[in-house]
Amino acid sequence: MTQDTTTSNQSVSSGLARVLVADDDLIMCEICARTLTSAGYATTTTMDAAAALAALRDEGPFDLLLADIQMPGTSGIELARIAREIDPAIAVVIMTGHTSLDTLHASVRRGVADYLSKPFEIAELTFVIEQALHKRQLLQESLRLRAIASLLRSSEAINAILDRDQLADAIVARALEHVPAQVGFLIVAGSSDIPTRVVCAPPEAALLPGGRDAVAESLRHGRALAVTAEQPLAALGTHQLWRGIAVPLRAQGEVVGALLLCDDRPDLASPGTQELLSLLANQAGNALRNAHLYSELDGAYKGLRELDRLKSEFISIASHELRSPLAIVLGYARMTRDRSEGETRDYAERVLEGADRIKLIIDDLMRLRDFDRQQIKLNLEPDALDAVVRHVAERFGPSAQQKGQTLSAKLPPTPIKLNLDREKACLVLGNLTGNAIKFTQSGGQILITAEHWSYERLAAALVQAPANPTVRRLSGTLPATWGVVRIRDTGIGIAREQQQRIFERFYQVASSLTREQGGTGLGLAIACDLAIIQGAVIWVESAEGEGSVFSLALPAD
Ligand code: ADP
Repeated sequence: MTQDTTTSNQSVSSGLARVLVADDDLIMCEICARTLTSAGYATTTTMDAAAALAALRDEGPFDLLLADIQMPGTSGIELARIAREIDPAIAVVIMTGHTSLDTLHASVRRGVADYLSKPFEIAELTFVIEQALHKRQLLQESLRLRAIASLLRSSEAINAILDRDQLADAIVARALEHVPAQVGFLIVAGSSDIPTRVVCAPPEAALLPGGRDAVAESLRHGRALAVTAEQPLAALGTHQLWRGIAVPLRAQGEVVGALLLCDDRPDLASPGTQELLSLLANQAGNALRNAHLYSELDGAYKGLRELDRLKSEFISIASHELRSPLAIVLGYARMTRDRSEGETRDYAERVLEGADRIKLIIDDLMRLRDFDRQQIKLNLEPDALDAVVRHVAERFGPSAQQKGQTLSAKLPPTPIKLNLDREKACLVLGNLTGNAIKFTQSGGQILITAEHWSYERLAAALVQAPANPTVRRLSGTLPATWGVVRIRDTGIGIAREQQQRIFERFYQVASSLTREQGGTGLGLAIACDLAIIQGAVIWVESAEGEGSVFSLALPAD
């Protein structure tokens, strides 16, 4: 049979303190019982120590034990000691007719709370009982606070565990630390792809059908339940356990499992225990859910990494395998062009142009591969940024002219001297300039400028800019001066929400199938990779339909 702790003890749920009177004097017993009942206590009387002990074990918990010091068999003081073992917070008042100093000392050592010397007045009885109960309340409160503090430590410990198996073991172990019981089970709710799991401590304990029913009932009620079953809940070797407390584990309103602790003790499911276990269950529920989410995230992350690895491998193999046949095509096309005339020469020229474009794509793929393998070397040399800009402007001038655009460069009167890897800087600026030409209509303008910038000016510009890998990795102390190249076009522009995505590998604003311009969507990703190894930053400012400014800032200190 299963019983709800909050309703199983009427006096507790109705707020009446429960007093157990133990005195072999029938009249005394009756006087105490009547006085205390009329003072508003729920009273149980026993005439000897054995009956009092049975009541303590089977009808507890009591708030106070009022015991005569002298009873046949066990003395009142011994009874108090056992009562304290069963419930460390029980208040005890000893009635004594002949207090000696020795008895007093012995009693103090045993933690007896108060004394009542016989004969006593009725008012004295209620006063002493009231005082003792007040002390008990304070003691209980301090025990509760101590338990909650230790629960918080447990909660921190279990919340730090992300491995689900380790976590399940830790939850059972912590539950048994806070609510000492012979056996503990954690039932972790399963899902469509993960079966329900039962973790137990000690490992040789077995969950019996009675235990499963008890857990099911606590889940039905949605709260902690004390269980006194008609069939055993659990077995530890040949020993069967019939009493327990079951509590559901919830996270964000969803049941994620249940805890079941089993013991022979009748007071296992006191309201204090129930509260403590419910608190632990809440923490454990959230920790279980977090561990579950973490393992899902970890799985997804590993899947992504594997995909990334496969993609890199594909890029590496494809670019490598395409290079050899392409070299043959380029070689023969060049030879045919040089050795032929008229139509054949034109055809060879076109084959050559196409093959050159393929070579550029393969070069990009090879660069990605080298960057992923960290095989890109930096060759820094003292150089002048304005000279690099002049070179790029001269190289791209004819392409712009072909599209009917004007391409001009505005350079500072004094050279911008810095250490740079000219080849890589040219690749980045060439890519940005090529894009400016590609995404600007005929008649548009492209202006390339080079300037000295202070760190403050750069920081102010970056605050406005959408993040990209070069911006994100800026940290620590940054150089005070920078050489900044800006490529401004009057082209189609880029919508704000696209401005950080264009730096991703293979990303293009318009799909390559529908747009007019060619490209692989790799240029800006490679530009970022090359900028990163130079400690440089790239950013974009743009408005759809108005044009864009792509900037490259290189450290000048
Ligand atoms: P690709 O040019 O090969 O498509 P990129 O990585 O160089 O790849 O550029 C990514 C995308 O960013 C381009 O497809 C284009 O949509 C957008 N983009 C880059 N530069 C400009 C620009 N100057 N004006 C407008 N859009 C641009």
